[in-house]
Parts: sequence; structure tokens; C-alpha cells
Amino acid sequence: MKNNRYIVIVGCGRLGSFLANQLSLAGNSVVVIDKNELAFSELSADFSGFRLNGDATQIAVLKEAKLSRANFLIATTQQDNVNLMVAQVARKIFNVPKVLARVFDPKRKDVFFHLGIETICPTSVAFDMFLQAVNKADSSPQEVQS
Ligand code: AMP
Repeated sequence: MKNNRYIVIVGCGRLGSFLANQLSLAGNSVVVIDKNELAFSELSADFSGFRLNGDATQIAVLKEAKLSRANFLIATTQQDNVNLMVAQVARKIFNVPKVLARVFDPKRKDVFFHLGIETICPTSVAFDMFLQAVNKADSSPQEVQS
């Protein structure tokens, strides 16, 4: 089943559209939901999944996405609260086995974890990379001026 998973992505913005394009290209069945129809213009010509225009906090929209069949739900909106709500509904009501959510606030990671939701925190990832870049610059040899 490696590349034939049924994946529902919430949010088709800067992150969700990239994921949708890539996961669709890899052979997965992808449904991408966004409340703003213009967001779908970010999808590539090769995207072979479904676009669903609607608010993912509405159960009817998630039903239309056939969420109960999904192997994965990925919540990528810009709002932690929306991602938390959709992820919880996916776990508890639609029994989606693997639920991933973008969470900007590192303090909220624990809340998600206790609800069985895996999180990716762009703030923490950026923090680590900035720190690494600064430390690397410190330790790289300086050019000697003559
Ligand atoms: P970005 O921050 O660029 O990754 O974009 C986030 C996307 O999530 C935008 O295209 C929003 O329209 C979309 N979005 C935000 N809230 C919802 C929602 N409740 N349901 C569906 N899409 C949403």
C-alpha cells in the first residue's frame, strides 16, 4: 500500500498545496480541502486528486471527503485551533489511523500529543535551523585580511 494511500489534506496554501502535489505525484489518492477556491490554483497540472471547496470544520465537508476511508489526515491551515479541531474529529469520529497537524505554537504540542495527534511545529524546526546556522557560522574559519 506504500504509494496507494488515501490522504486527506486540509488547507491548500503554501504547505498543503506542496504536499498535495508531491503525494499525488507519488501515486497516492489525495483529496485536498480549502475554504478559499483560489487556493487550488497552487496545484500543479500533474495533480490527479480531488479538490474540495469548503470549511473543514464542518462535518458534512469531511464526510464529502470520505474521511472515514482515509489512511492519513494532514491538517495544514494557518490556524492551530482549526488544525486541532479537525485533527480531533478525524481521530475520534472518523477513526483515521494517522493524523498529522501543523502547529505554530510549540506550547500546544503537548495538547495534541495527549489526543493522539502527531504534530510538526514549523516554529521549532526554524528555531533549530537558525541556531545551527549561527553555530556553524561561528565555527567556520574566517578569511584573513592582509
Ligand atoms: P498557508 O498558511 O499558506 O499554508 O494556507 C493555509 C490555507 O488553509 C489557506 O489556503 C486557507 O484558505 C486554508 N484554510 C484555513 N482555514 C480553513 C478551513 N477551516 N477549512 C479549509 N481550509 C482552510
